[in-house]
Amino acid sequence: MKMSKLGYFSEFLLFPPLVLVATLLTCRSLSPPQPAIWATVCGAGLVGWTLIEYLLHRVLFHHAPILSQIHERHHHSPMDLIGTPAWASAIIGLMAVAIPSWAALGFYLGTAATAGLISGYLWYVFVHYATHHWRLRRGSYLYRARLRHSRHHHLSHSGNFGVTTSVWDHVFGTALEGRAPNLADAK
Ligand SMILES: [Zn+2]
Ligand SMILES: [Zn+2]
Repeated sequence: MKMSKLGYFSEFLLFPPLVLVATLLTCRSLSPPQPAIWATVCGAGLVGWTLIEYLLHRVLFHHAPILSQIHERHHHSPMDLIGTPAWASAIIGLMAVAIPSWAALGFYLGTAATAGLISGYLWYVFVHYATHHWRLRRGSYLYRARLRHSRHHHLSHSGNFGVTTSVWDHVFGTALEGRAPNLADAK
């Protein structure tokens, strides 16, 4: 849905404190806390997010009912702030990420995996925003992300589904190469 700037970024105000509190609670639940294992699982969650990001965009955002209509609006008006309300993504995150992670890995490492997945999600929201709204230094990571994402917007909707990384597009053969789109169009 179309949102105000505060609404669009409200997840950045809500999720980091939640993750921090959950992490502190889980650290108290285990002694010693084993930070190296926690960081490894968190990193795996972060990497895992990039695959989820790819699949969400490729499968759900372009083919699922309702979601594809919302995403179509983003393709039509890329400068509009169309996102998920923080309360809705908090419920989805709890049901689809945190609870299954706790069930599979226990409270301590499940929280680590959730923290990684949420960090990846917030990184994705930020990068996607920057690709459409910021002036970016040529050659920078964000500039390359913008170039890649603008190919998805303007060359073909059947490739370059990854926003934060092109890795999964290369793995699954959907990377769009070749003619660079006019970056002025990426706005
Ligand atoms: Zn976009
Ligand atoms: Zn798309």
